[in-house]
Amino acid sequence: MNVVVIGAGPAGIRAAGTLAASGLRPVLLDEAPRPGGQGYRSPAPGIGLDSRAVMGSQFGKFERLHTDFAYLRDRIDHRPGSLVWAIDGRELHILADGRALILPFDALVIASGATDRIMPLPGWTLPGVFSLGGAQIALKDQGCLIGRRVAFCGSSPLLALAAVQYASLGAEIVAVCDTTSLARKIAAAPGLMAAPATLARGLGYLARLRRAGIPLLFGCLPHRIEGEDRVEALVVTDDAGRERRFPCDAVALGHGLKPETQLAELAGAAFAFDDVFRLWLPRIDPDGRAGPGLYLAGDGAAIGGADAAEISGELAALALLSDMAKPVAQDRMARLRRRLGRLRRFQRALAGAFAWPYRQAASLPDATMLCRCEGVTVGEVRASLDADLIPPELNRVKAITRCGMGRCQGRMCGPALQEVVAAHAARPVAQVGRLRGQAPVKPVALSATCESAP
Ligand SMILES: Cc1cc2nc3c(=O)[nH]c(=O)nc-3n(C[C@H](O)[C@H](O)[C@H](O)COP(=O)(O)OP(=O)(O)OC[C@H]3O[C@@H](n4cnc5c(N)ncnc54)[C@H](O)[C@@H]3O)c2cc1C
Repeated sequence: MNVVVIGAGPAGIRAAGTLAASGLRPVLLDEAPRPGGQGYRSPAPGIGLDSRAVMGSQFGKFERLHTDFAYLRDRIDHRPGSLVWAIDGRELHILADGRALILPFDALVIASGATDRIMPLPGWTLPGVFSLGGAQIALKDQGCLIGRRVAFCGSSPLLALAAVQYASLGAEIVAVCDTTSLARKIAAAPGLMAAPATLARGLGYLARLRRAGIPLLFGCLPHRIEGEDRVEALVVTDDAGRERRFPCDAVALGHGLKPETQLAELAGAAFAFDDVFRLWLPRIDPDGRAGPGLYLAGDGAAIGGADAAEISGELAALALLSDMAKPVAQDRMARLRRRLGRLRRFQRALAGAFAWPYRQAASLPDATMLCRCEGVTVGEVRASLDADLIPPELNRVKAITRCGMGRCQGRMCGPALQEVVAAHAARPVAQVGRLRGQAPVKPVALSATCESAP
């Protein structure tokens, strides 16, 4: 029985560990060179970065996952540096060391994690603007700051966390500009009590920023990022209607996360629109089943954070074992389901406390870059709707404008594209369709030669 897990983040590692504990030897694939995924990313060797300083209060969980993985490594077939770029029936197409390989599987756990969700604004393609997650990757992987004077802007629980991490490594934080109002955050408080420790950690980050005298704005409206050749300032309107200009040399921009779902789609998962997250999410049962022999776990199934990722990884593996008629502790599964349910409720409240600012799409100037891979502006998308499309549908907009057709395959522009189209066509966003996932999900060199995986 070939069992494959894609993604060596917290979800994939717990899934692989659970499968190994029952006597299987799963293949664990990850395009990254080291295990840990996004949240628990370990630094590149040899750069002398102290993970304890970077991870702060998350260090204990980081260390536990990496220690557990070190014990697991010999009992699984771990293949780092292996990008899964397509799934065709029961075969995975992998790029590893410049070689294209085909790996057959009988059962598949996809734990592919998440990507930043970005609402563009004028100037967001200037050098010096990073996605919030990208800013964290630079720090955790390479020990690099994206700038000396950094503004954090958007709507995400990672905003305050990343600002604290940057401040602790010597960056000057010029402002943290959160687009969600304090009133919305307070309204979400009862739901946030589902995970009081995580809530306390988030409030602690805000308190540290406040104590350090860093301007913390809530309910602001970002206008533009200024600069000639690179970032010079972030300009926003605060909740009192005053324009505020924060000179800086870098901006970290992020409006939460969206699940990486292309592989799930290629593997046959069905999707449904979720009104709370305003995203199309794969349909799974409470244990992560998405179809025969197909299991989804972690942020790639539903944004839940690292704790939920670990639980859902274990749960998906137990579901797989149970479907193979292997003995599985039902009481353990029931406990995991309860804990996961609580964390998922917390995440839904978090989606209210850090809301996706979809209304901004209607007021974006026409000249704003929407698809940076293909150089498509908001105005070009609007013009395509005026000229050609009745009814408006994302895949037709993509075919006509090339928006979402480039290197990132719509991972960056997709959420904003759906809002621009819905706003311009005056349609509910769920009615403008969903960008279809296509292989290759990430670029593959034509020179890669194809062979069967050993
Ligand atoms: C950039 C970024 C930074 C984050 N930082 C934090 C943080 O500091 N603290 C925090 O609590 N949460 C953070 N998060 C949230 C994070 O998503 C979760 O907390 C947690 O890491 C989710 O675990 P996971 O196992 O579901 O996915 P991940 O940890 O994201 O792991 C998914 C893995 O799948 C691999 N993968 C994806 N697609 C493919 C493919 N096609 N082929 C092969 N491998 C693939 C990726 O390389 C990755 O290692 C961050 C998220 C992002 C996107």
